[in-house]
Amino acid sequence: MLFYLKNHKHLKFLRNHTIMIKVNQETCIGCGTCVALCPQTFQLNDGGKSEVISQDDTECAKGAVASCPVQAITVE
Ligand code: SF4
Repeated sequence: MLFYLKNHKHLKFLRNHTIMIKVNQETCIGCGTCVALCPQTFQLNDGGKSEVISQDDTECAKGAVASCPVQAITVE
């Protein structure tokens, strides 16, 4: 459910927020670090870029965020 307020800055704190793990395909250089750290969450696709295969382990993904050399991963 989304509550509408005039002050849009607060909207993201009011909606039922689901944490999403994402990889920016433009930024990823396919180094494989995230796959090595969290094989349950990431895999390299046919283009040699990391893709998210599961949203279940956000804690591991946060570690991958810190280890990605090009900041291609977001967990938010
Ligand atoms: S660690 Fe970053 S650059 Fe390396 S494969 Fe994963 S998303 Fe791509």
